[in-house]
Amino acid sequence: MNEKTVRPLVITIDGPAGAGKSTVARIASEKLGLPYLDTGAIYRAVAWFLKDRSVAPEETNKIDAVLTGISISLSGGRVSVNGRDVTAEIRTPDVDASVSSYSALKPVRDALMGLQREQASNGLVADGRDMGTVVFPDADLKIFLTADAEERAKRRYRERLDRGEKANFEEILRYVNERDLYDMNREIAPLRPAAGCVILDSTRMTIEEVTDVIVSLARELGENKKN
Ligand code: C5P
Repeated sequence: MNEKTVRPLVITIDGPAGAGKSTVARIASEKLGLPYLDTGAIYRAVAWFLKDRSVAPEETNKIDAVLTGISISLSGGRVSVNGRDVTAEIRTPDVDASVSSYSALKPVRDALMGLQREQASNGLVADGRDMGTVVFPDADLKIFLTADAEERAKRRYRERLDRGEKANFEEILRYVNERDLYDMNREIAPLRPAAGCVILDSTRMTIEEVTDVIVSLARELGENKKN
């Protein structure tokens, strides 16, 4: 088959908070020459926007209308909402604490489905919670990346300190656990391994080791698609 007729790879990486999905997905996408889609950043941007507009998660009747006024753009690792760069604001403890309540809502998930699928025309590596189960169920490669909660909280804690921010390990561990519980038990698009996924436990693996596994699996698939 001609290489140009091969549909570019769609790779999904789902898993709980702090499992290393974003870092691994970004590096794998660079190695494979595919775009990277950070869907957590999109949900965070929506949570930030709704909070900024003083719309609580309970006010579900208002959400549809308010979300018609949102335009999210992701470029070069920066996230903007209606032209305002919110890259730092979407990573605050305040957004950490509220994002899962907004993400569980049907109007929020419905509003974001098209935006996410549109990004896949040139293939992609997408990370999130429902990439392999709901958004890209026909993905070529589905990964479920996990790690022990303590290890995941440690990683988030270090990330915060590296960014020069204050961090409280116990608080981060609590948020990580609460968020996972909420994400796993919600009615719509709960966090769970997709059918046919490869489960990777990164507790004792380096970022490089995890990335290498994913890149090798993707390259094998790419070769098979060409033949
Ligand atoms: O990946 P990250 O930790 O930045 O995601 C923040 C939150 O956004 C998650 O805890 C989850 O509630 C929500 N999310 C989601 N579906 C996705 C990606 C993120 O519900 N595909």
